[in-house]
Amino acid sequence: MFCGDRSVWVRQLDPDKATFRMYGKGHTFAHDMTLCDDCEQRWQADDIATLIERFRHSDEHFGDEAELMVSVVRRAGEGLSATPYDDHFPAGVKELRAQGFVPLQELTGLDEVWRVWPELHRRSVPETRPEWSPATECWLVRSPSTDLEPEHYLGAIWRLAEAGYPAEISNDEYWSRVERAAARVFTMDPAEVRRQST
Ligand SMILES: [Zn+2]
Repeated sequence: MFCGDRSVWVRQLDPDKATFRMYGKGHTFAHDMTLCDDCEQRWQADDIATLIERFRHSDEHFGDEAELMVSVVRRAGEGLSATPYDDHFPAGVKELRAQGFVPLQELTGLDEVWRVWPELHRRSVPETRPEWSPATECWLVRSPSTDLEPEHYLGAIWRLAEAGYPAEISNDEYWSRVERAAARVFTMDPAEVRRQST
């Protein structure tokens, strides 16, 4: 969470200590967080200044509050262990990663988007992690094109779905926009997808 590097470790957070106030509202941080190998080493070495600096530059929503956010996770993670990131996923994910599939939850908070992904390029394994229930499947996707990453397709879908976005939108309406956008994006040639995604 402190930088954009590949997640190697997961640290549990104590939800009772992961609360904070921001802009006058109470929030609770996630039940865990991921770290790259170097950030995990900084965490263990109490190199908080570096973690704050990395968070400031990597998080577009909370970067301005880096000091607060890092102090919250430090408090909530105190005394709790780190486990290897790959062990954190249900059985079968590791093998699918080796085939180029990426868990959707690593790419987007809207993992229902598996429904609009081409069948040939999506897979699922039974969800076994209690914190992810009631989800019954853990979905993974890969890029339909060797030239692009799944992020390019997602970026293009969001961009088309959110073009001319009204101020008020129902979940149903948002979802039908996503469906229409995906139908277009997955028939575009890769160069066009890339253009749309940026
Ligand atoms: Zn890192």
